Amino acid sequence: MAEAAYETLPELETEERPGSAGTVVMKFGGTSVADPEKIRRVASRLVGARRSGARVVGVVSAMGYHTDELVALAHKVSPRPKPRELDMLISVGERVSCALVAMAIADLGTDAISLTGSQAGIVTDTAHGRAKIVEVKAHRIHRALDEDRIVLVAGFQGVSTEYDITTLGRGGSDTTAVALAGALGADACEIYTDVDGVFTADPRLVPEARKLHAVSYEEMLELAASGARVLQLRSVEFARNHGVKLHVRSTFTDEPGTWIREEDERMLEKALISGVTHTVEEAVYEVEGVAPAELFESLATAEVNVDTVIQMDSRIVFSAPLEDRPHAEQALAALGARWSEQHGLGKVSVVGAGMKSHPGVAARTFATVRGLGVEPRFVATSPIKIAFYLPHEEVDRTVRALHEAFELGSAEAERQHA
Ligand code: ADP
Ligand code: ASP
Ligand code: MG
Repeated sequence: MAEAAYETLPELETEERPGSAGTVVMKFGGTSVADPEKIRRVASRLVGARRSGARVVGVVSAMGYHTDELVALAHKVSPRPKPRELDMLISVGERVSCALVAMAIADLGTDAISLTGSQAGIVTDTAHGRAKIVEVKAHRIHRALDEDRIVLVAGFQGVSTEYDITTLGRGGSDTTAVALAGALGADACEIYTDVDGVFTADPRLVPEARKLHAVSYEEMLELAASGARVLQLRSVEFARNHGVKLHVRSTFTDEPGTWIREEDERMLEKALISGVTHTVEEAVYEVEGVAPAELFESLATAEVNVDTVIQMDSRIVFSAPLEDRPHAEQALAALGARWSEQHGLGKVSVVGAGMKSHPGVAARTFATVRGLGVEPRFVATSPIKIAFYLPHEEVDRTVRALHEAFELGSAEAERQHA
C-alpha cells in the first residue's frame, strides 16, 4: 500500500515589487457565472472589493456546463480529438465568461480588462489537458493594476513553452487563481463557489454536513485527493508550497467560509476527523506478468500519477486519476502484460489529522463498514486517511454511515474558535 504522492512543484519566480500588498485574487466557479444575472452579480462583487481599496484580480470559470458541452461537441466531431486542438476548443469557455464579466464591470463605472491565460503570462509545460504551470510572468497584470483597473483572467488555461494553448485539468481555474495569488504576493486567494465552504462531507449527499472553519493544507490535500472536488488538488499543492492562504466561500452570501492555512494547535485540538469524502468512479487496474519496477517506470514515463498500489504475488493492482486513463492504457498496452481494468468501483475515505494521535479511528471505521454489510474490494491508508474501494452503488450509504459514526453532524465538528 502506498500513500498518495503529491507532485513537487517548480519554484515560482515572484516579481519583487514594493507596494503590491492589498492585492486580492477572487475566483468564481462555473455555477457562480452561469447566466447573465449572475455575471452582473459577480461584477458588482469585484467592484465592491475594488472600492474598498484592494487591487483586484478576478479569475473566472466557464459558464455553467460550458466546458462539458465543448468536450461533448469535440467528441461528436471526432472520436479521438487531438489534445492540442481539444485545448484550443475547451479553453474558450473561460474566455467567454471573463469578457462578459469585464463588460458588466465597465457598466458599473469601473475600468476592467479581460486577459486570456496566455495574455496574463501563465506559462505551462506541454502536457495538453493537464498542463502544469511553470512560470507566471505577471508584468501585464501589474501594469493594468497600476492603471487602476480590475483585471479579469480566464481560468483553467495557459500557454506552453512551445507557444500552444494548454489547459490545466478539470477544475483548473482554482489553480490559476492560486498561482496568480502566489505570483502577485496577494494577501489571500478567495475561492467563491456554490457551497458555503469546505464541509465534513459533500453537502449535496449529506445534508447534516457541517462547514469547517479552518483546515490545514495537509488535510485539504487529502480531502481534495480523495474526492472533495470543491478545490482542485493541484491548487492546494500550490497554495501549500507557496504559502498562499485560501478562503473558500459562497458567491451568494457574505458569510465567512473555510480558511485553508498552516496547521495550528487549535485546529489540531479539534481535528480528530475532518471529513468523509467520496468518488463515484475510480480507475483501478490489475496487471500480471510484469515486474513492478518495469511497470511503474513505464507509467512514470507516460506521466501517469499512480495513487494506490497493492502487490499480491505476481499480481499488481493500482489506481490512477481518471484523466490519466488514456495514458495508463497506452503504457499498459505497450508493456505487453496481461491487464484489465476493474469497473464499477467508487471510493470512500475518512480523513483527519487527529488520526495520528488518537487510537481507535481504524477500529470505528472498519466496524461501521462491516455493520453495513459492505465488502470493500481493497483498502488504502496514509497517516491521516483510510480509503475504501467499493462497488459504486454502496458509496452513498457508506459516506452517510461514516459521517454519523464520527458524529460529524455535531457542532463540535466545525472547529469554530470563539
Ligand atoms: P466551482 O464550479 O465553483 O468550481 P465545483 O463544482 O468544482 O464548483 O465544487 C463545488 C462542489 O464541490 C459543491 O457543489 C459540492 O457538491 C462539492 N463538494 C464535494 N465535497 C465537498 C466538501 N467536502 N465540501 C464542500 N463541497 C464539496
Ligand atoms: N471550466 C473548467 C472545468 O469545468 C475549469 C474550472 O471550472 O475550474 O473543469
Ligand atoms: Mg471547481
